[in-house]
Amino acid sequence: MINTAYITHSFCGLHNMGDYHPESPHRLAAINDRLIASGLINYLIPHEAIEATIEQLERVHSKEHVQSIIAASPTQGLHHIDDDTVMSPHSLQAALCGAGAGVMAVDLVMKQFANSVFCAVRPPGHHAEHQRAMGFCFFNNIAVAAAHALEHYQLERVAIVDFDVHHGNGTEDIFRHDSRVLYCSTFQHPFYPYSGSDTKNEHILNYPLPAGSDGHYMQSIMSQNALPKIDEFAPQLILISAGFDAHKLDPLAHLRWVEADYVWLTQQLQELSFKHSDGRIVSMLEGGYDPDALGRSVNEHIRALLEG
Ligand SMILES: [Zn+2]
Repeated sequence: MINTAYITHSFCGLHNMGDYHPESPHRLAAINDRLIASGLINYLIPHEAIEATIEQLERVHSKEHVQSIIAASPTQGLHHIDDDTVMSPHSLQAALCGAGAGVMAVDLVMKQFANSVFCAVRPPGHHAEHQRAMGFCFFNNIAVAAAHALEHYQLERVAIVDFDVHHGNGTEDIFRHDSRVLYCSTFQHPFYPYSGSDTKNEHILNYPLPAGSDGHYMQSIMSQNALPKIDEFAPQLILISAGFDAHKLDPLAHLRWVEADYVWLTQQLQELSFKHSDGRIVSMLEGGYDPDALGRSVNEHIRALLEG
């Protein structure tokens, strides 16, 4: 069995964008409940996230962006960054823990305290650009993790695989000029945030998927195209933007993936990690808005990580 760590923080469950917002605290509760019910929680090494530092955030965000999010944090009530990206009194701490979890996860795998790590954090991060919060995201958690691997551990090749149903416009924005990062994203198209389908960049691999397509379609695209390119890149570390909103039950999107598709994808990435990166994988939660489907999918994703 592989040594898998699990990072979360109670602040991540206190970030609340309003009673009817789909990116709700129930998501983390559903994951936790499922891991307890399945017993998998007993096999994971638990860690409490620590907040990212300003220096770690400024590796991927402008000083102005970081300061504007800190300044926008309300002491009471809600503060709208845009129509669907909202700060409550605990949101800043949650966002700092989300980004800090990525840093901690990279430290754990690079120092060989764990082979793989799952970060059960919210707010998610992959829509946050260098200079802009959007799409439920304030700081780009996976980008902060990748930048830590590049700067602190001097890695030369880091792959970020983003299987969230939405294109990770923020991650693409941050690394578009940094060929040390191979960014690979599958996403429903045309769909929010309406980016990625026309990107021309050798180290950004975007795979738009039509509404209604299922996991078999994704598997054929990954097998024929994405996985061989990741293999060729030979990443020293694989990071996953693990959104589970391509699931057929997700209320926000229109793909038809099931738990077995997440297992397949996890196994493929794990195989590549054994070949190129000593099995090092860091997976961070992004989307997934049907709490039940999310809990089951994360459980199977983690089971696949554990089983190696
Ligand atoms: Zn998403």
